[in-house]
Order: sequence, then C-alpha cells, then structure tokens
Amino acid sequence: MSPEKSTGADGKRFETLSVTYGEEPDLSNGVGDVTSPIHLASTYAVEGIDMDTALEDLDPDADEFLYTRLSNPTRHALETRVAALEGGDHAMAFASGTSAVVSAIMAAVEPGDHVVAFEDLYGGTNTMLKELFREKLNVAVDFVDATDPEEVRAAATDDTAMLWMETPTNPLLRLCDIEEMAAIADEYDALLGVDNTFMGPYFQRPLELGADVVIHSTTKYINGHSDSLGGVAVLSDEEYAGEIGFLQQVGMGNVMAPFDAYMVLRGLKTLPLRMRQHEKNAAEVAAYLDSHEQVSAVHYPGLQSHPQHELANDQMDGHGGVLSFELDGGLEAVEHFVAALEEFTLAVSLGGVESLIEHPASMTHSPLPAEERAELGITDGLLRVSVGVEHPKDLVADLERGFEAMAAADESVAETEAPEASPGDD
Ligand SMILES: *Cc1c(COP(=O)(O)O)cnc(C)c1O
Repeated sequence: MSPEKSTGADGKRFETLSVTYGEEPDLSNGVGDVTSPIHLASTYAVEGIDMDTALEDLDPDADEFLYTRLSNPTRHALETRVAALEGGDHAMAFASGTSAVVSAIMAAVEPGDHVVAFEDLYGGTNTMLKELFREKLNVAVDFVDATDPEEVRAAATDDTAMLWMETPTNPLLRLCDIEEMAAIADEYDALLGVDNTFMGPYFQRPLELGADVVIHSTTKYINGHSDSLGGVAVLSDEEYAGEIGFLQQVGMGNVMAPFDAYMVLRGLKTLPLRMRQHEKNAAEVAAYLDSHEQVSAVHYPGLQSHPQHELANDQMDGHGGVLSFELDGGLEAVEHFVAALEEFTLAVSLGGVESLIEHPASMTHSPLPAEERAELGITDGLLRVSVGVEHPKDLVADLERGFEAMAAADESVAETEAPEASPGDD
C-alpha cells in the first residue's frame, strides 16, 4: 500500500507538512534558524500597557506571547504542525498522552453524563475512566465490544455525551468502524473521541471520518524515538477547542515543555519514512510468526486472517507497526522466549525506532483483574511487539532465537522426565 495523501494545509502533501509546516525561518532578527529554536523563556516582554487587548486575543501566529503556560513559540510550532497532519484546525500539546485524554474527555462531559468506551482500551485510560470519571466525577461509563457497532448503539442513552474509542486497540489490535461510531455519536448528540496513537496521522485520520477530537500520546510514533513524553489533542470545533485549551492552560495547566516540543517537531520530520518502514517490518514479522507452528494466533490488521482486515483497508492507509501473538505453552514458553531475544528489548511502550516486546499479562495489563484479562483475551501466552525500523531479517532471526530457546527448554524437561516415565531404561 502506498498512500498518496490528499493535500492538506496550504495544498501541501503529508510528507512536506511533516518536514516544514509550522517552522518558518524568521529572518527579522537576523538569524533565520531553519528549525524552530527551543524557547525556554517562561515570560515575554510586552510593548507597553494596553487596556484593549484581552488575553484570548493574543495571536501566537503573529508572535504575540505573554506567558509560556498560555502559549510558547516552540510548542505553538508543534501544535500548528500536528493540526495540519491530522487535518484539524486546532491542536493543544500536553505533558503526556494521558493529560490529552483526560482533557478531551473532561471538556466533553459533566457530572451525570454517560460515556460509552471500547472495552479494550489503553490500560491507563481504562483506569482513568473508572477511578476518576466514574468514582470521583459521577460520570457513568460503559465498556463495550466496539468491534460490533450495535453494542455501542445498545449502550448509548440520552445521557451519553461521549464515545471514547481506540482503533486498533491495545494489545489485541481490534478495530472499530470510525464512520459508524461517528454516526452513533450524531444519533445521540454525543461527541466522538478517538485515540489515534497506534496508527498516527500517516496511516489514519479519524477527523476525516467524522471524529470530533483525536488524541495522541506523542510519546509513541509521533516523536518516535522513545525519548520524550507528551500528548496532543486535535480538533476543528471552535467551542470544544476552547474548552480543551482552557483545561490545558488554566484549568489544569498541563502543557508540553519547550524542550519536548522541539524533540517532537524533530521526530515528526521523519514520520512518513519511519511509518513506512515500521509497517514493512511488521508485515514481515507477522508473516513469519503466522507460519510458525508454535504460534497459535497472530493479531495484526495487515494479515488476511485478521477478522477486520477489510475494515482496516477501508479506514486506514496502512497497518502500522504493532502486533501481538500467542505462544503455545503459556507463561513458561513466554519466559524462555523473551529471555533469549537480543534485538527486541523487554519494555512497555511502543512506536520508537527500536523494536520492543512486552508481556501484557504481567506488564501493561497487570492492573486488570485476571478474570477481566481472560474476558478480553489477554492470556499468559500473549506477547505484544512494537516492530522497529531495524533490518527485518535481523528481527526475524531474533525471534528464531526465542523459538530455539523454547525448544531447548522443552527438550531439557523431556530429558529430566524421561527416567521417571520409564524406569530401568538406559
Ligand atoms: C501510551 C498511550 C497512552 C498514554 O500516553 P502517555 O504519553 O504515556 O501518557 C494513551 N493511549 C495509548 C493508546 C497509548 O499507547
């Protein structure tokens, strides 16, 4: 698949926007940095006393800044670029993906409202919806299997103010149909929020499919180098954007630091290149795992065998770099497999240039009770990988090491058990 992106801001294409949009060399101070400087100042000198200009009238596009929590030139450059890439009019950058999620939801709901969420959400978001929104803010939350739009429709009520979705989900790569979700949200006068962290704007743009707000953990693909924590919310509705901006700047004061904004701007320049390689490598790894007899299931939207492969092709321009798979032999097999790997680092998180592997049952999804994990299909034999941009043959060779270690462990078990099984035998 080689997506020819529709033209975006200024009639430019995705690859061009990724590199330069929002970073215009400014020659007025005689320097003309080609990349956006890291503006560390917390406060900005103003021309003089002015009774006529309100805070909200300050225009960062015209270099009008007052105080960094409200707006900062480096953060503004990043917000401008991400808005263009996601096809939204407004973007706000936060200190983490989590703060982007909480702000997007909090700006949409009030006590007494109802939220319908995908049951298969990022662990932190799942806990946030239960412990913060449900327990503290009196917002009712229903978790449903959104792979079936009818389950979402059945859960929605007149009090439903928001649908909160991820697609594909973590760690089982289940999809929901974004256009269908947008239609249901419209039926109930609710807002649709989509966490687009797993695909990124290069492969999926939910706003074009009817979502009201998109969030990212920029910690993952958007920054892409596992060295910055951040988040962003992107949307077009002026009023909703105002509410989220209020939370970002005043209600919670939860902003991305200038240094991180610089890092993410830099990471974004190679987003299309990285995403293409992530996908190419993930497809090779998925095909290898799919053909391995000790793997009982591979979850990757790019495989024909994925139950929603067609939906994936309809609403995404690619299949991404994350997949999960199930090893025959459960926990013990997983331990031997993971211990033998050299390229795949055992670590949570995803979306960086380096390949990572993690064990959801004991790592990302360990806060979920065992029964809930079982219901979701997160077994002890499940592993999730974030396929990096290394050479795919080296990655496959690494997985081969894992399978060899499993086989060696099986053999040593067979040897120690053999004498008991047939005493007297030599
Ligand atoms: C990582 C992640 C988050 C949370 O982002 P942080 O930057 O860690 O706060 C939210 N959603 C998804 C899908 C994620 O992968």
